Amino acid sequence: MPDHAKHPILTKILATLGPASADVPTAVRLIEEGVRVFRINFSHGTIDQFAKTLAVVREAGEQAGEHVAALGDLSGPKIRMLGVEGGTLEVQPGDHVEITRRNVDASRDPETGVVTLGTTYPEMVDDAQPGHRLLINDGAVRMLITDKVTPADPDTDGRRPDDPRLICGVTVGGTLSAKKGINLPDSDLSAPSLTAWDRQCAAWAVEAGFDYLALSFVRKGADVDELKALLKDAAQQRPAAQRQPRIPIIAKIEMPQAIRELDGIVRAAEGVMVARGDLGVEMDLARVPILQKQIIKAAHDHGKPAIVATQMLESMITSATPTRAEVGDVANAILDGADATMLSGETAVGQYPVQAVHYMARTAAQAEAYRAEERRRHPELPTLGYTSKDRPAALARGVSVIVRDLGAKCVVMWTQTGGGVRYLSQMRLTVPIIALCPDPAVLRKLALLFGVRPVLADPPDDARLIFAHADQVLLDRGLAEPGDPVVMVRGWPMGVPGTTNTVQVHHVADQCRI
Ligand code: PGA
Ligand code: MN
Repeated sequence: MPDHAKHPILTKILATLGPASADVPTAVRLIEEGVRVFRINFSHGTIDQFAKTLAVVREAGEQAGEHVAALGDLSGPKIRMLGVEGGTLEVQPGDHVEITRRNVDASRDPETGVVTLGTTYPEMVDDAQPGHRLLINDGAVRMLITDKVTPADPDTDGRRPDDPRLICGVTVGGTLSAKKGINLPDSDLSAPSLTAWDRQCAAWAVEAGFDYLALSFVRKGADVDELKALLKDAAQQRPAAQRQPRIPIIAKIEMPQAIRELDGIVRAAEGVMVARGDLGVEMDLARVPILQKQIIKAAHDHGKPAIVATQMLESMITSATPTRAEVGDVANAILDGADATMLSGETAVGQYPVQAVHYMARTAAQAEAYRAEERRRHPELPTLGYTSKDRPAALARGVSVIVRDLGAKCVVMWTQTGGGVRYLSQMRLTVPIIALCPDPAVLRKLALLFGVRPVLADPPDDARLIFAHADQVLLDRGLAEPGDPVVMVRGWPMGVPGTTNTVQVHHVADQCRI
């Protein structure tokens, strides 16, 4: 058992499952080390494979005795190259490349040297314009669009208007291979925000019972709304008895359009991901650290969680220890206010998935200890970006003061739907929030929220026993000791959703000091 198993970290760790980790024993180890959300990337594999991986998540959660969430990651309108004749193709600066609407593998004309390349989104030939950049393989190969041949072109000079295409000059050369991603940071693409594949995956995710869905390449709030509508439709198809609340949506922020429309996206989604992989290609890489802070702040302004993703411990794909820069990145993401930090290739295909989570959790523990110390030194309340007249938000601020002044060991919150918990999570308390709830599906969703420990518990039949009942849960699970001050938050009357309205202070198992 890792040291932090007894005092779990407040930051949530997301791990992507893949060939290196999608088996029950490894997934159990990852949970023991601190993973609370597993990501299944719908960009790689088939629905059959995703179903097997989801079964691994559920079984591992059961075996490890933790409520862990499954997040399905929808690919969105990511453009990719089709195949490459002969496997790979080298391009040099100055090479002439043509992007065609035709469904062809990439090849070089042996006589003219011109490279022709087909893509998964032929309409980009209409959307992109001369002067725009075209980047392949996360920006490793770069081109500038210099000209365009359209069907309206007079058929002279061998322009062949029957083959509409973009004419590009390579500025940074490299190797092209099948399925590599294409980014067009300067172009406004008309691609729908959900592809046919996304629709298929999302409808299946409703049936399979995913806890979260992430959407890639979100450009505006309406993209999120479109997914919401699809999820509602999919739910309608199910027998009434099996209908669950709509799956919450995490909007991946990775395009310049999304930065411009950030506020609308944050309003529409239930959380955001700072998707630094594509963000660093679509935008100036040098801006990414500051964008990370701005995106996290925008999410928190609306009381929503933010996940920081990609290349956090990248070198651990092939090395048993991370670089100094990587642990610095994890710590700084937490100090920036990230609710969760994510591992991608490190756990999906890396050689050291368990060690990667271990390092992330240990680094998080240090960052959290530093922040707790800072809080003690500067005991003023964190200011929330939003001025909310919401009862749960106001209560959360009050709870934060009480926890600070009493040195409470934890906050205990009874919840039916998990609704008010996120406001409490946003207060960035330095002690855990024990969320007591009778519904496993709600508990799994709460697993993403900073500082929240989801615990399965039925409220007592007799409301007068509420303290005794909570004490028993805390003591049974070693979450508090007799005499510890705790702050309890609940609704009155109990069991009615949306009534979080009561804060009480209490000493565990001490009838005299209620
Ligand atoms: P991806 O998203 O791994 O699905 O591309 C994350 C990112 O772009 O950072
Ligand atoms: Mn991405």
